[in-house]
Amino acid sequence: MEFKTIIEPFKIHSVAPIAMTTETQREGYIKSVGYNLFSLHSDDVLVDLLTDSGTGAMSRNQWAAIQHGDESYAGSPSWLIFQAAVHNLFPFEHVIPTHQGRAAEKILFTAIGGPGKVIPSNTHFDTTRANIEYSKAEAVDLVIAEGRDPSSLHPFKGNMDVIALEAFISATGVENIPVVMMTITNNSGGGQPVSLENLKAVSAICKKYGIPFFLDACRFAENAWFIREREAGQSERDVSDIVREIASLADGMTMSAKKDPLGNIGGWLAMNDDALASICRNLLILTEGFPTYGGLAGRDLEALAVGLTEVVSHDYLKYRIRSTAYLGNALSDMGIPVVLPIGGHAVYIDAKAFLPHIPALEYPGQSLAIELYKVGGVRGCEIGTVMFGRKPDGSEVPAAMELVRLAIPRRTYTQSHIDYVIEVCAEVANRASKFRSYKIVKEPAALRHFTAEFAPL
Ligand SMILES: *Cc1c(COP(=O)(O)O)cnc(C)c1O
Repeated sequence: MEFKTIIEPFKIHSVAPIAMTTETQREGYIKSVGYNLFSLHSDDVLVDLLTDSGTGAMSRNQWAAIQHGDESYAGSPSWLIFQAAVHNLFPFEHVIPTHQGRAAEKILFTAIGGPGKVIPSNTHFDTTRANIEYSKAEAVDLVIAEGRDPSSLHPFKGNMDVIALEAFISATGVENIPVVMMTITNNSGGGQPVSLENLKAVSAICKKYGIPFFLDACRFAENAWFIREREAGQSERDVSDIVREIASLADGMTMSAKKDPLGNIGGWLAMNDDALASICRNLLILTEGFPTYGGLAGRDLEALAVGLTEVVSHDYLKYRIRSTAYLGNALSDMGIPVVLPIGGHAVYIDAKAFLPHIPALEYPGQSLAIELYKVGGVRGCEIGTVMFGRKPDGSEVPAAMELVRLAIPRRTYTQSHIDYVIEVCAEVANRASKFRSYKIVKEPAALRHFTAEFAPL
């Protein structure tokens, strides 16, 4: 008998309190921080869906591994355990630990970016794009057309447009393209997966032109689960086997271990190229630390090694993907426009369709995120013009989509928390026509969404 309810495949082992607040209190809190949800005290948030990055719960085996951490500066056994766990899934020649994903990006693009270089991806994540642009290179997104259409039901909306990629390579010149990236799953494009077939096609194009192919593999296990569920001929395979095949198609990877490796901090850069690895290790020593710990404590390396074995469990991934879909489908069923199909780690509300009275340059996604917080203490994240609208030349252009992401931390909230979020969204939908436009009153030069301040218009 298969029951309808997929229970959390864990029981709670240690708890952290949630402090209850009222709508009036929350109105005051959000106003006092310039309407930027990143500036709130997290104690003033009831259900924190700001990000799934480093916010998950570790298992008792991970906490036990923390005790096993060895803090030797060089050659720690914790490093060897971590390296073996990475190699088990991603057998790249060189594994370079970093304190998180963006540190891996910074090192990689310092080594291979720079003026005149252009780096295509399906969709670059915000820190990836920012690190490329900081090196004075250009970041280009070549996701398939369905990936830009929130209502398209394509099963692999994270796929790269391979025809566009070849045209791009001819137009740009191989010598100007130091790497082709693929983000799996495609975070900024709605947490949508990339098919194995598409990864093979991109890998073949890269081989044909002699361009290195790197994965931004933050959600590799969720992506592999979607491949198993949706791609012809994959349904009997073990997820770790699919992951190893994905790795075999690439020349390297950047990684945030705050995502699928089930850690609270960590990341790595990996590659097969010896010369590039040597440049990257030297940069690592300059900014992160010695190559056998990167920016991490030995105990962190140990926890990640265990997380890498837990995240490829089919019971875990079935629960993970089904629980995200549970929230997304409930919102969709009540008529709230969400990116379909529901992605792996988050539900993305289409704020452009939800708040048609607010123009893109008055930030509909920010307005919606503010109201979700005020009404129910639910913290989501704008992924739209606030995040992507400011161009390196200083101009402001509407983003392709105006989304509010409700990211689900791994193994952290139960179904009743999610049922509460669904009720909050229903109430927000009732009030949507009254939501206000915003303007930005203060912003930094780059990655403005983290610190910008807003005022209602
Ligand atoms: C989170 C993330 C990063 C950056 O990783 P951090 O650990 O937050 O620095 C890069 N790419 C993608 C797709 C991500 O989701």
